[in-house]
Amino acid sequence: MEEIKKQTIMHIDVNSAYLSWEAVFRLKIGETVDIREIPSVVGGNSATRHGIVLAKSIPAKKYGIITGETIHSALKKCRNLIIAPPNHDLYLSSGRSMMKILEEYSPFVERYSIDEAFLDYTHMDYHFGDPVTAAHKIKDRIKKELGFTVNIGISTNKVLAKMASDFSKPDQVHTLYPGEIKSKMWPLPVGDLFMVGKATATDFQKIGISTIGDLANYDIDVIRSKFRRNGVMVWEFANGIDDCVVSSEDYLKSKGVGNSTTIAFDVTERKIAHKVLLAIAETVCMRLRDQKSAAGVVSVEIKNKDFIKYSHQAKLCSNTDCTNEIFKTAKTLFDEAWKGEPIRHLGIRVSDLCDSNVYQKSLFDEKLHDRNKALDNTIDHLRRRYGTNSIVRACFIKSQIKPLIGRLN
Ligand SMILES: [Mg+2]
Repeated sequence: MEEIKKQTIMHIDVNSAYLSWEAVFRLKIGETVDIREIPSVVGGNSATRHGIVLAKSIPAKKYGIITGETIHSALKKCRNLIIAPPNHDLYLSSGRSMMKILEEYSPFVERYSIDEAFLDYTHMDYHFGDPVTAAHKIKDRIKKELGFTVNIGISTNKVLAKMASDFSKPDQVHTLYPGEIKSKMWPLPVGDLFMVGKATATDFQKIGISTIGDLANYDIDVIRSKFRRNGVMVWEFANGIDDCVVSSEDYLKSKGVGNSTTIAFDVTERKIAHKVLLAIAETVCMRLRDQKSAAGVVSVEIKNKDFIKYSHQAKLCSNTDCTNEIFKTAKTLFDEAWKGEPIRHLGIRVSDLCDSNVYQKSLFDEKLHDRNKALDNTIDHLRRRYGTNSIVRACFIKSQIKPLIGRLN
């Protein structure tokens, strides 16, 4: 049989990402204790002692602390537990630094989640050596230059590469080539398979499927009739079949950008609601421009004083990243949707994003669009240089509303 030229895909996964990134950050600002080496967790709020554990150190694990349990219960297990609050901005920038290194090894790198990426290494052997050698180089560079460890899985498709990176941790490179599926993947519990949730795993158990191998060798017609399309998909995964390609699309872009706020008082006036929307549009659009995206869909979310939530959205004629344009749409959407009752919470979300360098200008508003764009660029520049409050819109002066609402990255 003729050998088909296979792809080489790597899956890079940061080991206990939130905790590692927090540890690296603390060492960088001069702390002497590495929180990875003592009982510590990321999550909740250390002052109020509320919330849940999002990530834990290995020493914390030894106390029986598990991800998802309450901080309160974790503290009962270990009184000296160090609790670090989540820091989303830090995670974003740490993930970005890793992406920069990965992009040196392939033109096709896909940021899959905040701490995971796929890298298409096909035809790259000539530059950086065979995949295993290259993966070790990448892993060691991340450790040396950024201070945290990753696992790298290597295979011929994304699902197998992802499964491989989940083998023993931390700081490891694993392969899971098609010839290794039987020995390395089939003995694992079926719940470990990508896309098999707890509920599906339980349903599989009922028909005698407990390992990935059991699923792989099960009659596909039975799987299809009982579990439909999802069943067929995971049966294919169990057999190592997956033909998704690595797209250079950033997951952050595909998800859209949104900010929202709970207002300190009930808003009953249309004008005030508009002002809050403008303050939110400012941050949403700054984030959009920061990641070089332009939005095609705008949606406004309203929560009233009885906590009833509703939203309204519209597709734009052409994609944009301009604050004025997005605010204008948000305002119209609000006016159309608002039922006139007191409002507690307002939000704007933009989606259907594309690269801001490639979006089309609509023919009619080109002049205005160029002027808005120049204005936005100047404002962004000033705010970056002199702080977010260095330039604010006059309508916010002497107003109870902050001129910028929502996070900036
Ligand atoms: Mg991870």
